[in-house]
Amino acid sequence: MTTNSIMATNAYRLFVNRLCRSCPMKEQCSLFKNFIEQQERNSLESTPLNHSDVQTIDNHLTVSSSQHCFLCLDVLHRYTSDEFIQQIKQTAQSTTSDFQSFCCNLTLPLNLFIRHAYLLKFLNKYVGECNEKDLPIIKDQWRNVMIDRLEEALERPYQIESPFEINITFDFSGEAEELNFLRRFRYADNPKLQKSNANEAFTRQAVTSVLNNITFDDFEQYYKPVINGKTSCTISAQHDSVYIAGRYNKYSRTLSQTPWIIDGIRKADTSVEELIALPISKLISAKHYVFLSSGREDVDVRTLGRGRPFVIEFRQPSRILYQPEEFHAVQNEINTSTKDVRVRDLQQVSKEDSNQIKEGEEEKTKCYEALCYTDTQIDQEELDRRLASVANPLVIEQKTPIRVLHRRTVMTRQRSITELRATSIDAYHFRLRLTTQAGAYVKEFVHGDFGRTKPNLTVILDRFVDILELDVLAVNIDFPPTLEIENEQDNACDTNGK
Ligand SMILES: [Zn+2]
Repeated sequence: MTTNSIMATNAYRLFVNRLCRSCPMKEQCSLFKNFIEQQERNSLESTPLNHSDVQTIDNHLTVSSSQHCFLCLDVLHRYTSDEFIQQIKQTAQSTTSDFQSFCCNLTLPLNLFIRHAYLLKFLNKYVGECNEKDLPIIKDQWRNVMIDRLEEALERPYQIESPFEINITFDFSGEAEELNFLRRFRYADNPKLQKSNANEAFTRQAVTSVLNNITFDDFEQYYKPVINGKTSCTISAQHDSVYIAGRYNKYSRTLSQTPWIIDGIRKADTSVEELIALPISKLISAKHYVFLSSGREDVDVRTLGRGRPFVIEFRQPSRILYQPEEFHAVQNEINTSTKDVRVRDLQQVSKEDSNQIKEGEEEKTKCYEALCYTDTQIDQEELDRRLASVANPLVIEQKTPIRVLHRRTVMTRQRSITELRATSIDAYHFRLRLTTQAGAYVKEFVHGDFGRTKPNLTVILDRFVDILELDVLAVNIDFPPTLEIENEQDNACDTNGK
């Protein structure tokens, strides 16, 4: 192979002769670097080139020094500058002011992979054995140049799995046009597929697999790079969610847990979720939030005792670190803003801990108190006698209640009841205390739901029983942790309030 025949290739013109005199990519591969230096010495000896001139390298490819770097699409030039680092810093800080570490996700134009493969094939053919390890991909090179400097500028460590992701996306205006070169080789062994998928978009994976089947000569013959394309870049960032947990009491029998909206029309002014989450979201200032609780009560059911555990996931928060006093202040704000809801144990929890609210859904128990009515008289002695006759635990079978049929599938579920006590109020009324496995329908257990719950209290007491009022007394899960400071406050409140 003579020097002249190498110089006659498009690859030589693109990679060596002109386009990327200053590309740091050359420094990354000793084989390539030595080759370039050799070529430079040769050209000085023969015909000195003035590299700043516009130079025609082929009938189609007119190249000037003002155009993008052919090797790296400028990713290693413009987008490694101190100015660019400042842009990244600005985006990061304005997204989440107190991120603790960061990682970077780079998305590169797919035609960069074509150029990389072309260069590898060129080196292998004319210079010497060169595999992908010897010529790092642009993404790794960018990281090599940038990570230390970014750590310094952001004053935070880089971590591969950081919860704070900085996304840097490069676009190249000629990407789609250049990818067309691959279509000739895609489905090359299946003309039918090639025709039917003529316009199918390229994924990174598809580009890589097609490139594996293209030879250097194919490149020379068919590849038409878009020399005049422009590279642009967008930077964005986002932090993993912040999780805030607590427990709430609900004292109203006319308040729904979640916003009550039917066909786009609000049916109630507010909800438990809004009374709690809106004041907290002013503190967290996230893009949006998701409210999760350990079960939920009906509109007309109160939740007393230490309350029902909840977690609010705030997505894309603008701040992530908080002082306990800040939660204490928001908690006070919530508790003084309404008589219907009270919050305690408000605190930040980890994502892992927040899952506790969903775990043990089947095993956990709930304690209730119900005000019940019977259509014929019943006294304490008869209540005790009839309840003493039922098994403990009592296993009931519940067909999906009629009142929720419109939103749940019909099925029969078994639930157990471990505590069942009644205290007479007068001849027709009594208070019922029961502890059930989570998910039991208490109202249906009392009136029987037309025989859909078996056994039920109407059968056990041998007369019609209905439920007038229901309260949740306890949701027995050990989450979130009780906060010391609030115990004192609770005691104070109980003494004053009762
Ligand atoms: Zn370059």
